[in-house]
Amino acid sequence: MKISPIFRQKKAVWSFEIFPPKPTADPSAVHNTIAELSALRPDYISVTCSAGGSGNARTGEIASMVKSFGVEPLAHVTCINSDLASVRSALADLKKRGVENVLALRGDRLPDREDSKDFAHASDLVNFIRTEGYDFDIAGACYPEGHPEAKSLLEDIRNLKKKTDAGVSHLNTQLFFDNEDFYRFRDMLSLAGIDIPVQAGVMPLVKKGHVDRIISLSGAKIPAKISRMISRFYDKPEALMEAGIAYAVDQIVDLLSAGAQGIHLYVMNNSYVAKRITESVQGILNELNGAENADRP
Ligand code: FAD
Repeated sequence: MKISPIFRQKKAVWSFEIFPPKPTADPSAVHNTIAELSALRPDYISVTCSAGGSGNARTGEIASMVKSFGVEPLAHVTCINSDLASVRSALADLKKRGVENVLALRGDRLPDREDSKDFAHASDLVNFIRTEGYDFDIAGACYPEGHPEAKSLLEDIRNLKKKTDAGVSHLNTQLFFDNEDFYRFRDMLSLAGIDIPVQAGVMPLVKKGHVDRIISLSGAKIPAKISRMISRFYDKPEALMEAGIAYAVDQIVDLLSAGAQGIHLYVMNNSYVAKRITESVQGILNELNGAENADRP
């Protein structure tokens, strides 16, 4: 099933993002995670892939696993370290597995690898998928605070327009903690003539490890409310878990109140956190989406 029609059927799409296990790891842990996430009846689950291209095989395997639980997978595909042949084979593998939705990404540059001679931007990948005739629904990434390599948010949005014009049917945002950045971004997209659905990416900061990683890698602005939460609870795992869930729920309620077309939860393979957050906003989703969601547990 394609994901894009869901945005026409529902006022608020609800999805999770997971990452595949390492190439040699036993997939049973992620199997259990997917079983637990599927029970929460998300509209889809996205599966990341490594920018090196080696992760694509496991992305397909895990996307198939998601599908076996009756949930639609969105498989991430990167291109910055791949040539035409390897991207073609990753796409053919996804097609063979019955995957119908891909998130077309450039991927992060790896310091020890040369950039692809075939793909410079995610829009090149979108064009490639379209011209090769693959019948995928194609999603793209976007950045409410601007992509770190872009000179300005405006320049980034001009580039984003090239990507959406190439044939992207919905956008998933990078994580952010200040909803005002998302609302400003949404207005700017509208002025730029980008009118496809945009799902807000929310990352619950519930573990010390996430806090360190997210702050150093994502470049996301950290509001004072989060700084206080981290400095007070950094070494108190239970308190950080509860505070992180509460912050994410508060952020999501505000996003839904402001008419966000969907929430994409970066759950970091933690089904407990996904369950707590989903249950907290279930009533709101049910009311917004009507009967469509009413049978969710
Ligand atoms: P692009 O859309 O190509 O943009 C990258 C930069 O190039 C931006 O600065 C943009 O302004 C500029 N640009 C774009 N098009 C043009 C153009 N035509 N001319 C000039 N400049 C241009 N990484 C992974 O490795 N694996 C994953 O699974 C993964 N999943 C992600 C999921 C989401 C929702 C998000 C938001 C990010 C994800 N990433 C993932 C990270 C992503 O790969 C990086 O942020 C990467 O640096 C940019 O990828 P992109 O697809 O947004 O690139």
